[in-house]
Amino acid sequence: MRDDVPYQFHLLYELDSDELYENASKLSPFYLLSFEEISMLDVAVVGAGLTGLACAQLLHRWGYDVAVFDKSRGLGGRVATRRVNTTCFDHGARFVSRQGSRTQQLLHELLAVHTPIISAEETQTDFPKSVTDQFVEHPSALPTLISWPRSPHQLDSSAANSFENVFSGVQHLIRVPQTDAQSYVPPEGMTAIAKFLAHGLDVRRQHRITQLDANLERRCWKITPEDRSQSPPFARAVILAVPAPQAIPLLESLTPTGRAPDWIDQVRAIEFSPCFSVIGGYAAQSLPLQPDPQTGIPMWQMGDRHWDALHCPSDEILAWVGLDSSKSRHSDEPIIVFQSTDAFAATHVDDTDLGLVGDRILERAAQLLNCPALCDPQWQQVQRWRYGFCRRPLASPDPYLITHQPLLLGCAGDWCSGSQIEDALTSGQAIAHRIHQALDSSSIP
Ligand SMILES: Cc1cc2nc3c(=O)[nH]c(=O)nc-3n(C[C@H](O)[C@H](O)[C@H](O)COP(=O)(O)OP(=O)(O)OC[C@H]3O[C@@H](n4cnc5c(N)ncnc54)[C@H](O)[C@@H]3O)c2cc1C
Repeated sequence: MRDDVPYQFHLLYELDSDELYENASKLSPFYLLSFEEISMLDVAVVGAGLTGLACAQLLHRWGYDVAVFDKSRGLGGRVATRRVNTTCFDHGARFVSRQGSRTQQLLHELLAVHTPIISAEETQTDFPKSVTDQFVEHPSALPTLISWPRSPHQLDSSAANSFENVFSGVQHLIRVPQTDAQSYVPPEGMTAIAKFLAHGLDVRRQHRITQLDANLERRCWKITPEDRSQSPPFARAVILAVPAPQAIPLLESLTPTGRAPDWIDQVRAIEFSPCFSVIGGYAAQSLPLQPDPQTGIPMWQMGDRHWDALHCPSDEILAWVGLDSSKSRHSDEPIIVFQSTDAFAATHVDDTDLGLVGDRILERAAQLLNCPALCDPQWQQVQRWRYGFCRRPLASPDPYLITHQPLLLGCAGDWCSGSQIEDALTSGQAIAHRIHQALDSSSIP
């Protein structure tokens, strides 16, 4: 029995919430009021990626009763960290960099409290002067950030394929990219950023939402999880903060009107490309690693070059290689994350044997880096991102979609303006403002 609820409401808790919802009209007005008081959220956010969390964090701060639902066991969506043995690696977003005002603001807040490993010019940044939408109010939730990669390089893989270069080695084909912006990671993994944004929020994990029903009489949504043993929550507004293709079945499930929002075709037009991440753990002596003279952290050595991340912009299979273990000073085991190109992933996205897909990517990396040991990791994992990167974002002035008919419902995500963390934060915060306007005409605090 919950002791934060008056005695007379306990009867309601004993009812299955589906039953409660179906029979609500038969209950006395006293119980009807109680039902709403107990069960109703102001806003339900579906998706605990950075879009959903940024949105929920603002609404929570403005005093709304908001809960976030996610199908997975973790937080962060494509900002993803996995643990193996005593260490961890980022198999989704690799780092966060200043892509626009939202990531600048986020980095400003994270870098302001802790002293990260950054260079002198890094402290003279053009961070926004006026702080309007802070991410959270609790400095205790802030993760530490370090600058990573410290030495990104780029491989000209089209030249690496040529006969003479295969035999002469590839070190002369590696160069420092001119355009790489400074980027950062929490050494404990990128999900620390999601956990930071989730601070103080009601996040309900392992809740895959499969159906939305509008109760026009009561002016609320019933949000049904796939697992029918989980209580369906009720909310005045719903925000779908999921990749566009995952929003479509939910938009098509709307009852009782059976009518999807007018903008559903805009959601259908969004295109995502898949991506594979292959993660390998290696024996340290099998790879050409040398400690960086300044930090002592092992880096990949190629001739006189050393790198911790390598872009492969012209390769057909391999897009990026990151020495993920160099994000942490405490990892003895080299862990490498390899990311495929869109084109390779599109060809293999429905393959059933992911191990073979991973092997193909490792073979290509071994060939390009002239390092056969890359094909023989001590352990290997393959992550398929079916909706990896948005390739055709929403063409709309607002970075979200919203309707009031039949009830308040919105869609948000990185795909509303691009394909990166900046776009996720922009969309999440923008729809929070819009929902606030719709729910409450008073000015935002
Ligand atoms: C391999 C890879 C590397 C990347 N690297 C970078 C990088 O270095 N820098 C950068 O800026 N960006 C990077 N990105 C892009 C970045 O990760 C995304 O732009 C951003 O994380 C998108 O956030 P989001 O909240 O919009 O979506 P997501 O992170 O996809 O979150 C959506 C959430 O919704 C949940 N969900 C979906 N359907 C349901 C449902 N029916 N019920 C409940 N929950 C549901 C999912 O579980 C997920 O948690 C990378 C992406 C990938 C795939």
